[in-house]
Amino acid sequence: MANKMLRFVDLEKSMPDKREADSRRQDFDEIYEDYIPAAAAEQAARCSQCGVPYCQVHCPLHNNIPDWLKLTAEGRVQEAYELSQQTNNFPEICGRICPQDRLCEGNCVIEKAGHGTVTIGSIEKYITDTAWEEGWVKPVRPLAEKPQSVGIIGAGPAGLAAAEELRRQGYKVEVYDRYDRIGGLMVYGIPSFKLEKDVVARRAKLIADAGVIYHTDCAVGETLAFEELREKHDAILVATGVYKARDMKAPGIGLDNIVPALDYLIASNRKCLGDAVQAFDDGSLNAAGKRVVVIGGGDTAMDCVRTAVRQGAEAVSCLYRRDRANMPGSQREVANAEDEGIDFQWLSAPEAFLGESEVSAVRALKVRLGAADATGRQTPQLVEGSQFTIKADLVIKALGFDPEDLPKMFDVPELQVTKWGTLKADFRTFETSLEGVFAAGDILRGASLVVWAVRDGRDAAEQIQKFLERKASRREVVAA
Ligand SMILES: Cc1cc2nc3c(=O)[nH]c(=O)nc-3n(C[C@H](O)[C@H](O)[C@H](O)COP(=O)(O)OP(=O)(O)OC[C@H]3O[C@@H](n4cnc5c(N)ncnc54)[C@H](O)[C@@H]3O)c2cc1C
Ligand code: SF4
Repeated sequence: MANKMLRFVDLEKSMPDKREADSRRQDFDEIYEDYIPAAAAEQAARCSQCGVPYCQVHCPLHNNIPDWLKLTAEGRVQEAYELSQQTNNFPEICGRICPQDRLCEGNCVIEKAGHGTVTIGSIEKYITDTAWEEGWVKPVRPLAEKPQSVGIIGAGPAGLAAAEELRRQGYKVEVYDRYDRIGGLMVYGIPSFKLEKDVVARRAKLIADAGVIYHTDCAVGETLAFEELREKHDAILVATGVYKARDMKAPGIGLDNIVPALDYLIASNRKCLGDAVQAFDDGSLNAAGKRVVVIGGGDTAMDCVRTAVRQGAEAVSCLYRRDRANMPGSQREVANAEDEGIDFQWLSAPEAFLGESEVSAVRALKVRLGAADATGRQTPQLVEGSQFTIKADLVIKALGFDPEDLPKMFDVPELQVTKWGTLKADFRTFETSLEGVFAAGDILRGASLVVWAVRDGRDAAEQIQKFLERKASRREVVAA
């Protein structure tokens, strides 16, 4: 029913040569099944149009799923697209990388009845990919230009969704990012076999075509002072994500070839984009021919094990201290990794890293799950005498991320943070402890998902608009 169909969009910067891009992509290719129109319509027609749209309720954007499924089933794809893009700035991206099994599809009534979910994500992707092909996707055009401007720090999904919504309202919007490309973790974190980089680049271009100005290679707090931005703009949105990799203490942790997950994934993504990546070429961040051990059980860990398989690793193991049922990430991603031959060592924790200067093995201990803690999760307890060893030439630490110290980085101690280091903001207005400074995405809620970042970006944009309207009317009163 499905048709394997890969598409390439020439990118000015990212993929200058299509053939080169094609050959690069072969190494990292996902078995990608794109719907052809008949298959999409047939799948969409499986929606029972149940009275209570649990799928919609459990989609963070409350996408109008039943209605766009109905339109797709009737072959009215352009109308389906118009409807779906009203609630989502990146429908083809969410369609590709949302953990649908935990969100819309996991709550599909047909799935609950045991007949297999309607493949909502794939249909959302099909609708929007078709819209791009047909030329229905257009940059937003504000009805009237407004004099006020907003500065957005961070060009990830939260910052970009807010930028597009604020531009729609006619504000001048400038986005500042320390990376050289637009997209945040959609470019440098999520592997290209899950999300092709040209799909992100064409969205970035669309937002630029709407009049949003990008400043890349611009690290706020380093190359540009935060206070300078506050003076320049009427409001600021901080959407900087979370990037401080969690670490662990164990004998031998400082050996060579034990690397943080994001370093490994960024190198792989840059290679796919055609950049010169010395650490990949010299083998230090390349799993080809190696025995790889990934530590952690979340989605980042799954991305690492699956990337290592595509790079031609000799063997890939994953050590996780809880059992399969307690994996924090998407069960679908775990199933994909199992299908690809990953050796999962559940209920196992590293005890020491062995080797002379480079790592050669990981010594681990078995774990049993004890009594539940305050959060309701069972506490892992090490089992004495249960040591075992796994040979390793490359160890990847995928233990999660914490926020960087933003008050210090931006040199504004008054910017308040929570005990987790995320920005403290009013949950209704998204405003931080600094007047006119708002927050959205991972830096507000902690490491999360693209779809939640989009939701935050949209909600924050609405609140920024209200703030700017109040500010403008105050000015009018003073002037009168
Ligand atoms: C490896 C990995 C895989 C993932 N896979 C998925 C997935 O499959 N599905 C899913 O839904 N989610 C996934 N996520 C989570 C998702 O990517 C994030 O939740 C989402 O990108 C957060 O969006 P954001 O806009 O808040 O931050 P980000 O995407 O992190 O963007 C923040 C941007 O701010 C910039 N920035 C930071 N500090 C500064 C500064 N001082 N000055 C200027 N710019 C700055 C950064 O360069 C970055 O571009 C994954 C995350 C990782 C790490
Ligand atoms: S945005 Fe994500 S959760 Fe919502 S309908 Fe699309 S795939 Fe499902």
